[in-house]
Amino acid sequence: MNIPVCIPSITEKEVEYVTKAVKEGWISARSPYVEEFEKKFAEWVGCKYGVSTSSGTTALHLAMRTIEIEKGDEVIIPSFTMIACALAVVYCGAKPVLVDADPETWCMDVNQIEDKITEKTKAIMPVHIYGNMCEMNEINKIAYIHGLWVIEDAAEAHGAEYIGKKAGSLSHIGCFSFFANKILSVGEGGMLVTNIGLIFKRAQWLKDMAFNSDHPAYRFVHNEIGYNYRMTTMQAALGLAQLERAEELIEARRRNAKLYMELLEGIDGITLPVEKPHVKNVYWMFGILIDKKKFGINRNKLMEELAKKGVGTRPFFYPMHLQPCLKYLGYYDGERYPVSEMLFEQGLYLPSSSDLTQEEIEYVVKCIKELKR
Ligand SMILES: *Cc1c(COP(=O)(O)O)cnc(C)c1O
Repeated sequence: MNIPVCIPSITEKEVEYVTKAVKEGWISARSPYVEEFEKKFAEWVGCKYGVSTSSGTTALHLAMRTIEIEKGDEVIIPSFTMIACALAVVYCGAKPVLVDADPETWCMDVNQIEDKITEKTKAIMPVHIYGNMCEMNEINKIAYIHGLWVIEDAAEAHGAEYIGKKAGSLSHIGCFSFFANKILSVGEGGMLVTNIGLIFKRAQWLKDMAFNSDHPAYRFVHNEIGYNYRMTTMQAALGLAQLERAEELIEARRRNAKLYMELLEGIDGITLPVEKPHVKNVYWMFGILIDKKKFGINRNKLMEELAKKGVGTRPFFYPMHLQPCLKYLGYYDGERYPVSEMLFEQGLYLPSSSDLTQEEIEYVVKCIKELKR
């Protein structure tokens, strides 16, 4: 057996859409395909506007720029997340201020946010970790009281729901990634969604060099620092096919998770992911925690042994307060985030591709059971 940790699900439909676009001569970022993908994706999420980008990271950076995060500002992010969240803030010269994770959902602990708010705080960036949802009502309430923006990082949570609303639609701006291993994928790409017309316009403008549209003669007069964060037509065409398969791809992730949970239930030393009653978890990656004392071997050893049996895994995120690149900026000296540290030490995710078969999942679980001491 050789089971990679995650591979994309590509069918004839994707090949057909991309081929059609290319044959028609549409390859740049300006095409009906890109517009259609933006419109349909935003609609699917439950937002008015979509702005496609070259990646999830650039969507986050663009979001920071649209709300004018600048040098000296602070943005509250979880300590337990992927580096892109911190990078988007750092690219603006601002400081990512951290809160620890909730030990049950692994998402930002909402009870720790208010203590971190200062005069400099401009925004909160909740991240829906591994397809689970943050407590958005509490976060929005805090943001409202303190006059802060809320930017959701929904890169790992396509189709996840919080009280019936989709991830990305529960705040001022939602950001998605379509990287190869994400639930909906175009290879490399991202999307910013919003209901705020001015944010939409500004994001569209900044992601495309901030060309001047006042008069054709002054097109090449640039009033602000813009970017080339454009998505190509090939990506958008692939995205349109994936979007048509969204429910299938999400249900596959959930079906895999359900089977893993049934088979792993009750093994001493393994903690499984949770799905709160008001949340739909889409299990982007199926993560588990290994308690060495009870399981017999530690997370690293388990990963090594599974690799020998052909089972691909990845460790959980390395917490932001320990990241050398951020510490180098002089941040987080001596700060501790014990839940994030525990998650990094104990967490790993198992093969999670949408196309995983029942036999493959059974094999992974059999290997884990054999390795328990
Ligand atoms: C994947 C991911 C991103 C970045 O997306 P890219 O498309 O790889 O730039 C951002 N945030 C989180 C939480 C992610 O998992």
